Amino acid sequence: MTNELFTADLEVRLRSPEANLLLRRFRSEISTKGAATVAMLDRDIMRVYGPHLVVLEQTPDGEFTFLYSGAQVPDDAGKTLSAKLTSAIASGTAELFRLGCREASTANDAVCINHQTGMDASVHRWECLFLPMEDSEHQRMFVALCMPREHKFEFLRSLLDSLPTGAIAVSPIRDAHNEIIDGTIIAANAKAVEFTEHETVNGLLSTTLCHAFGDSTVSSGWDRHITVMRSGKAQSFDYHHRGEQATRWFNVHSSPIREGLLISMTDITDAKRAFLELEHQKKVLMDEMEQRRGLEQELWALAHLDPLTSLPNRRAFRDSALLKLAESQTGHRPCAIVTIDIDHFKRVNDVYGHGAGDTVLRRVADIIKAPLRPNTDIGARMGGEEFVVLLPDTDTESAIAFAEKLRRRVEQTVVVIGENEVRPTISLGVAMNRKSTNLDDLIDRADRALYTAKRTGRNKVATEIDVQAGEKTAAA
Ligand code: GH3
Ligand code: MG
Ligand code: MG
Repeated sequence: MTNELFTADLEVRLRSPEANLLLRRFRSEISTKGAATVAMLDRDIMRVYGPHLVVLEQTPDGEFTFLYSGAQVPDDAGKTLSAKLTSAIASGTAELFRLGCREASTANDAVCINHQTGMDASVHRWECLFLPMEDSEHQRMFVALCMPREHKFEFLRSLLDSLPTGAIAVSPIRDAHNEIIDGTIIAANAKAVEFTEHETVNGLLSTTLCHAFGDSTVSSGWDRHITVMRSGKAQSFDYHHRGEQATRWFNVHSSPIREGLLISMTDITDAKRAFLELEHQKKVLMDEMEQRRGLEQELWALAHLDPLTSLPNRRAFRDSALLKLAESQTGHRPCAIVTIDIDHFKRVNDVYGHGAGDTVLRRVADIIKAPLRPNTDIGARMGGEEFVVLLPDTDTESAIAFAEKLRRRVEQTVVVIGENEVRPTISLGVAMNRKSTNLDDLIDRADRALYTAKRTGRNKVATEIDVQAGEKTAAA
């Protein structure tokens, strides 16, 4: 509660025309008669101003008595002030009248108080003009004109209408078994009218929940509100409204009050659109990344894998083999290499065609791949019908056994080409790393062993010892 006191320029400050007229009347009384008496409150004045007037008299102990109080000037509890002492009424109201009378008495002139009450009174702001007067026996009296400036209801109404949130109050509709089957909209603010695409508040007020939230233009919501009324438990949810002009998104909070509901609706269209756009962008980005990853993999495969057999190509072999060999050298561990060449492969092409040759190449590649230890052995297609395998941590015996196994498996393979059968064989050369070995040297020695295998009959595994034996025989 606040009291704003004005003692000067009242003609300018007074808002209500009634207060201005009474002030003019008061001033003319003083200028013509030297003092204003309560006699000026004649029948004409009382008819017009009476309901808003209060007449007070000071008591010897400094309080004031209400000699008269118009019907429109009740105390905070809505009761008349007539015949009461200021000490007997609500303190806020008493304070207003004490202040007004004292200030008017001190100034010996009209004063005005803008009185603002709490929200519990029906009139929320008053304009009170206090006039010091006398009765016929020169006894001091105070006349106050109390004009309501703003009613609580108006304030609350404008407050509700200024909210960015739509607010709707609903009371339940029950069937013959007392079951809640729908609701009547009993109050709504301006945003609720806009959000539900009604022209006026009255248009919305005459509708039911089912009509406002259940028809085809407004997607679900009606059933949720009914559930809230039946269960007495609040719910929050988002829903989108496919209106005539545009689709809007709302966050709706439905909470039970008494038997009915209070529905609040917040427009989240912008946030939702931004979110959906972001989701879309995210998806585009993910697709792009996925595509790029695929492309990178393709490029990697193109650069590193032989397209026919999917084995690493010569370059990829070289990169990994250099590392593996270096590791073996530093760790003083054995490392074997096996070079492989398909025997008389040219004939396969010549007799059965290039496609048949490719099939044989793939089959041999699969046989080579099968026994490789992942992350350890490296198999590759070096070009044409030539392959290579690097076997780290493998001694001569194991390397020969490995080569022998490959040879046998190829020898046992039958490749069916139409009505024909091709039985390929391979020749293999095995070489081991030495104290100082580089990759080219190792491959070179294995190739020489392979050459020996070819020279001495094919479908064979040869080692460096076979090479040396061959050289000795040749020399002899
Ligand atoms: P050798 O037992 O002495 O190794 O005889 P070969 O006929 O296997 O050896 P040669 O080097 O004379 O022939 C290899 C053939 O491999 C020649 C070439 O046309 C064929 N070739 C190379 N690359 C491919 C390929 O990718 N597909 C097919 N189908 N043939 C290939
Ligand atoms: Mg060859
Ligand atoms: Mg060959």
